[in-house]
Amino acid sequence: MTYSTQPTASHFINGAYVEDTSGTPIDVIYPATGDKIATVHAATPAIIEQAIESARAAQAEWAALTGTERGRILRRAADMMRARNHDLSVLETFDTGKPYSETSVADATSGADALEYYGGMAATLTGEHIQLGEDWVYTRREPLGVCVGIGAWNYPTQIACWKGAPALACGNTMIFKPSESTPLCALKVAEILHEAGLPAGVYNVVQGLGEVGSSLVTDARVDKVSLTGSVPTGRKVYAAAAAGMKHVTMELGGKSPLIVFEDADIENAVSGAILGNFYSSGQVCSNGTRVFVHASIKEAFLDRLSTRLRAAVIGDPMEPETSFGPMVSERQMQIVLDYIAKGQAEGARLVTGGARLDRPGFFVSPTVFADVTDDMVIAREEIFGPVMAVLDFETEADVMARANATEFGLAAGVFTRDLARAHRVAAGFEAGTCFINSYNDAPVEAPFGGVKASGVGRENARAAIEHYSQLKSVYVRMGDLEAPF
Ligand code: NAD
Repeated sequence: MTYSTQPTASHFINGAYVEDTSGTPIDVIYPATGDKIATVHAATPAIIEQAIESARAAQAEWAALTGTERGRILRRAADMMRARNHDLSVLETFDTGKPYSETSVADATSGADALEYYGGMAATLTGEHIQLGEDWVYTRREPLGVCVGIGAWNYPTQIACWKGAPALACGNTMIFKPSESTPLCALKVAEILHEAGLPAGVYNVVQGLGEVGSSLVTDARVDKVSLTGSVPTGRKVYAAAAAGMKHVTMELGGKSPLIVFEDADIENAVSGAILGNFYSSGQVCSNGTRVFVHASIKEAFLDRLSTRLRAAVIGDPMEPETSFGPMVSERQMQIVLDYIAKGQAEGARLVTGGARLDRPGFFVSPTVFADVTDDMVIAREEIFGPVMAVLDFETEADVMARANATEFGLAAGVFTRDLARAHRVAAGFEAGTCFINSYNDAPVEAPFGGVKASGVGRENARAAIEHYSQLKSVYVRMGDLEAPF
């Protein structure tokens, strides 16, 4: 299978595509058919060296531009991404299997939002002036240096931009390693950035598995690491970065609660549960996979949910009407099927779905378990697939304690018409990203990230600037300086 937008080599370094076929081959599989659509090669030590040296060499000159100049390039790239949205969305669908109906509105568009937002912000990044009598201190907001971004496979274009845009706006350079499952999209991001005028070496992409990520994280020339991935990988990468005293951002997994109170608008709550469990076939880190429904409305909720799920159009992701696609890989499909089997073995009630679909590719039907209890594996572990666990509750105090009884803390949502309760519950959630009468909105203007095991630092909004820059204080004495001797 070929398509016009396919990147022409495995890596993008120093402003150009680079190939080194001596690296381990990584097959790119189209999840909707299981067909191989491309092969990339993992970065060899020579490629990693080239990327790090290019990023280092380019950094000082990039940082020496004014914010306006840096921002202009990012904004130009944003416009180009929007103009090429169709081709980029087709590529994203080939890379991930997500339906075109999603990728055409949520991936290159979200990446472009980040480039536009930080492009606009670049010129506004300043230090401050602190008066101390006649003396004064000023602060300079300085870049960190060379940043490494490591991506997961669910949003390859978005992750490449969410990390790249703030990093570059602050005057850093970046080496991005996409997930080995979805290596193609980030290459197009690099290509577009350079076409928009980015100097060579400022944004580089190298391919590989965990060991390539690990080589980057442990290199003394790297100043910051931003990972989007699972908690176990996060622990390893955080520890490795700590050994080198590097800055980190960790965007990790979750098992987020979504609470539906008895006064909720049921139709909206069902929409929230669908968006929070089945968008991208459930492969979204912030998903509200523990859906706590007040016992008095549980059956009504499940009825509407089952009816609405029958309207899902499962099939060829390239067809515009398809609304539900395959899992990203055979491996991920097997993980999800194993969790479904565990749910059944533990005695949860299978309301709908629960099986692989009889067609090529890695399709698992949208699955809902009811009567799930807190101790079941499907209520405790991140599944990262289309599996919703519905749990009952009676009181607010009880559901809040249960919602927070997890090592994760990425997201949480509440559906209620009671204004005071909505805000009280949002305040009580141990989670970094919360929703009231909504779920999974991720505008670039809002900080995004987790607490507890779900992460460190924030992406998006002005908050991300704090994680891609550092402050230098400069004390300025205006008079004579006294010393004890
Ligand atoms: P993963 O942890 O297996 O891999 C993530 C990335 O880390 C990959 O690029 C992988 O090659 C790399 N990696 C693996 N071991 C490494 C090591 N030792 N050193 C450096 N890099 C290493 O995650 P995944 O399966 O690709 O993605 C799914 C996970 O990502 C889920 O847990 C999901 O919740 C999480 N996720 C989080 C967010 C968020 O913003 N919080 C967004 C999307 C996905």
